Amino acid sequence: MAFMLNSYPVVYRAKYAGEEWKGEYLEKPHKTPSAERAMPPGEQEALAASRNFYPDMPLLNYTTQYGLSCFEGLKALPQKGGGLAIFRPDRNAARFFNSMKGLYMPPFPQDLFVKACLETVKQNAALGFCPSYNAEWEKDSFMTAGSVYLRPFTYAEGGIGVSISRQPWVVIVTTQVGAYFSTGNSDAVITNRVRATPNGTGWIKAASNYVNAALAKHEAQEAGFMECIFLDVVHNTYVEEGSSCNIFFYLKSGELVTPELGDTILPGITRASIVELARDRGAQVSERKISIEEALGETKECFVSGTASGAVPVTSITYKGKKAVFGEGKTGEFTTWVRDTIKGIQYGIIPDTKGWMVRVPD
Ligand SMILES: *Cc1c(COP(=O)(O)O)cnc(C)c1O
Repeated sequence: MAFMLNSYPVVYRAKYAGEEWKGEYLEKPHKTPSAERAMPPGEQEALAASRNFYPDMPLLNYTTQYGLSCFEGLKALPQKGGGLAIFRPDRNAARFFNSMKGLYMPPFPQDLFVKACLETVKQNAALGFCPSYNAEWEKDSFMTAGSVYLRPFTYAEGGIGVSISRQPWVVIVTTQVGAYFSTGNSDAVITNRVRATPNGTGWIKAASNYVNAALAKHEAQEAGFMECIFLDVVHNTYVEEGSSCNIFFYLKSGELVTPELGDTILPGITRASIVELARDRGAQVSERKISIEEALGETKECFVSGTASGAVPVTSITYKGKKAVFGEGKTGEFTTWVRDTIKGIQYGIIPDTKGWMVRVPD
């Protein structure tokens, strides 16, 4: 997915002051979207970059110094029938609440989270900052479709000593998600690094978890792979997840396996949605431990899941120098079904029978 640091002008910001959250919508410098596009590239970038400054927020704090922060990622998607809708924001609200509690922060109320997400997208759309539906996207299963990416995150109050954050900010920034073209391969490699440990923060969407993930992903990409996959730290045997995505194995037996949740696995909303959709379809779905040996030997199809790209095929896994190729290196039928079903619901071409899509008010 092509992320761009080109935030939309309206940003939500709330601060925990005393006993309650005080929220505000900040309008950052902007012109109309078409006037911005008409600017010389340098000026356009400078204007976009100017939206990324918050001079009244402290530079020295527990987030910048010690990585004490958590975040969310969700999307507002242009609907075939018009307008925008957000995919399962209540689930992100609940996870953000749990993440903040897990970091001993005052948790952000879930209803406020959903309301602020909808309102931020709405206010930006009212200024013209939102993609609109394009029927062309249907031709390539929404691989090149646009959407609004929402990034809610916490930012700690000023401080230099090691401490928890008692009065954090919650900020919601939105950016446009551009067309995604899969240029590289779909090969993954097992990393020796550790993403999460028992009794650690792996279940929290914590900024600090991403240090090892970023290093491992960089190493994987330098070695020519698309993604790295982590094994559990205790046995160095069981598959956990990718750098920022959950993982699924569709076995030759017809069983769909994804590692069971625990304190080292991030409870992905895409993961939960795929489990539910596959069960509805009658597939045998297991949330259980799967060893790397079983995965390499028994897998027909493999894919990773996350908000950024939905379901992405993994066509091979390299472990201890040996490469196991799945389905002759092509995207399989089951993976295609998962990907198209998720995207179809999200963009409104498949009926949303579960009430997962929440409309952004006009
Ligand atoms: C966010 C995240 C995921 C995917 O979660 P979604 O809710 O599906 O976007 C998976 N693994 C990690 C480590 C993550 O941070």
